[in-house]
Amino acid sequence: MGQVKLIVSNWKMNLNLLNSTNLIEDLLRISHSDSFKHIICPQFILIPLVSNLLKDSKINLGAQDCWYEKTGAFTGDTGIELLKEYDCRYIILGHSERRNHHKEKNELIKKKVDLVISEGLKPIICIGETIKERKKNNYLEVLENQLKLCIPNEYNEVIIAYEPIWSIGTGLTPSYKEIIEIQNFTEKFLKKHKMIKKLYFLYGGSVNSDNFGEIMNNTNVNGALIGGASLKTTEMKKILTFC
Ligand code: PEP
Repeated sequence: MGQVKLIVSNWKMNLNLLNSTNLIEDLLRISHSDSFKHIICPQFILIPLVSNLLKDSKINLGAQDCWYEKTGAFTGDTGIELLKEYDCRYIILGHSERRNHHKEKNELIKKKVDLVISEGLKPIICIGETIKERKKNNYLEVLENQLKLCIPNEYNEVIIAYEPIWSIGTGLTPSYKEIIEIQNFTEKFLKKHKMIKKLYFLYGGSVNSDNFGEIMNNTNVNGALIGGASLKTTEMKKILTFC
């Protein structure tokens, strides 16, 4: 289990040239200790700008997706070669918004994971259940299937972001007990089925500066995937200062 916390800012399809520049400039003024790694994942068209602004800083750059082939006739998709040229080191894959709006299935996500790993980048693999699945009490089956189908069998370290879909952007968060249940479940699953040496287990879903400290203190999670709150300097200042 890693000690360093991973704080992943998922900007989604937000911010323009001006306010992303302002946000990065604010974030660069916050002192970065070695106790955490901050990874910013902007929308693709902001990546050249953000890459330039982050040059020589301690903040890492990530992307919100990439295609599973390196180049070719894939209209509308983004290739990993260009992402590497802009110093992207992390790629979020299997986010529920991609699974939902773009109908991405576990099999497709696995192909992307394989390419990202083979290109020496780190996938941040998202898993999570719907409210219906949680209420029906079959959420562990759903999560197990995602873990089974999206994660390679042999890999040094894997970053899994547990993001219950009912928690994303809703202000609802699972209890510590519920987060710990999924963390233990994931650890057990990987131990049993996959040759993975190290797991970074992140929590995502309505994380903000009010609940971040409590989630980190009361669970053993290795960091957070943050959407809405990652767009605000004041929120990120408090969150990063806590780390
Ligand atoms: C996300 O979509 O990855 C996310 C965690 O969003 P939010 O923090 O806004 O719930």
